[in-house]
Amino acid sequence: MKVMKFGGTSVGRPERMQQVKELITKGDEPVITVLSALSGTTNALVSIGDAMAEGNRELAKENIDKLEAHYQTFIKDLLKSEKGYSRGKNIVSEHFEFLNIILKISFSEALSKDILAQGELLSTKLFSAYLEENNIDHVLLPALEFMSIDADDEPQVATIRQRLSALLSQHKNKKLFITQGYICRNARGEVDNLKRGGSDYSASLIAAAINASVCEIWTDIDGMHNNDPRVVKKTRPVEQLSFEEAAELAYFGAKILHPASIWPAQFYKVPVKLLNTMQPSAAGTLIAEQAGSVGAKAVAAKDGIISINIKSSRMLLAYGFLRKIFEVFEKYKTSIDMITTSEVAVSVTIDNKIHLKQIVKELEPFGTIGVESDFTIISVVGNEISQTPHILKNLFESLEPVPVRMVSYGGSKHNISLLVPSTEKTKTLQLLNKGLFGLD
Ligand code: ASP
Ligand code: MG
Repeated sequence: MKVMKFGGTSVGRPERMQQVKELITKGDEPVITVLSALSGTTNALVSIGDAMAEGNRELAKENIDKLEAHYQTFIKDLLKSEKGYSRGKNIVSEHFEFLNIILKISFSEALSKDILAQGELLSTKLFSAYLEENNIDHVLLPALEFMSIDADDEPQVATIRQRLSALLSQHKNKKLFITQGYICRNARGEVDNLKRGGSDYSASLIAAAINASVCEIWTDIDGMHNNDPRVVKKTRPVEQLSFEEAAELAYFGAKILHPASIWPAQFYKVPVKLLNTMQPSAAGTLIAEQAGSVGAKAVAAKDGIISINIKSSRMLLAYGFLRKIFEVFEKYKTSIDMITTSEVAVSVTIDNKIHLKQIVKELEPFGTIGVESDFTIISVVGNEISQTPHILKNLFESLEPVPVRMVSYGGSKHNISLLVPSTEKTKTLQLLNKGLFGLD
């Protein structure tokens, strides 16, 4: 059995849903299809929730109506038979009636999760209606009956596996299953979600839970590219990445895959394929245990980085100094991305400034603290990258005009990270595209 996940743009238009139908009915292997909400829907639901939270019911109502109108047009184009269309209409009214009821009751955090869940519920039900209209035998599996997170908001594959196999065993002869990405139940049994972009995570968890042969993530680009196509002119898809490389890239800003979705596939040894709905025959990117080749494969950039420098002569020949500093970050649940040290100073970077003030205050007794913001981490990712001949020479020769602030090298075999002012990001990515990959 395999998993095929389609993102918001892959189901965002009626003709795209037709393509998805073609893709999932092609092979002989049974498939669990995981769908995101139609593109733009989750953002719209977020703004509806925000408006309700602020007590602005008029605005919330306006947004609900606008979204409903979008779905009314959508089903007209998607469902051509009278029966299909009337089913579509019922689905749309059911979910928008629900939103209109929510509008009338007092708002809570739990309700906002219910609102967010409507997107994936709508996309899967409408898709199911479309399959039915086309006489394609399938089963709609409710994610809320098997996808769950524990009291620490962590999904447990063993629990998911147990519930999902129980559901699947009720449909032994079926070959096609459709389910919602993103949504789940939390430890209190309430509707919750796996955070924005979480449908990839759902797919990977499902793939792990059923020991899928492959977890295919279908988007609108042919795989993970070697550089950010929004910043540089020429990029090329990376053929193969190890899970470690993919994790570094996803974490350091490659937008194509949700970073959390790597671990379930990696731990349960399910290969992941990144494929393009618009160009289904393109090879895409394979993410597997093996890296496939050595050397630099891709660069990614992560913005909004803050650098904190702690300078203290007391650090000289002292032990335990770093521990005390790290404890401050631990206390405020703020993770450190990069770190460099000298004998009398240490610099770290963080991407979350919620507790910055408190952190700086607690660091002050340790020395002179310098805080600077608006940095970007540029991460060069590849296999055995630190052992690749001339890599540092190439890297620094290409970056000669860039004022690099920090370098992290050797921490992992797969990554070299550079900290540059965000104003230099475009230039840095362009120079690396030429220097490391020979592309303009
Ligand atoms: N619909 C959700 C979002 O937009 C989940 C996803 O698309 O992965 O964040
Ligand atoms: Mg999405």
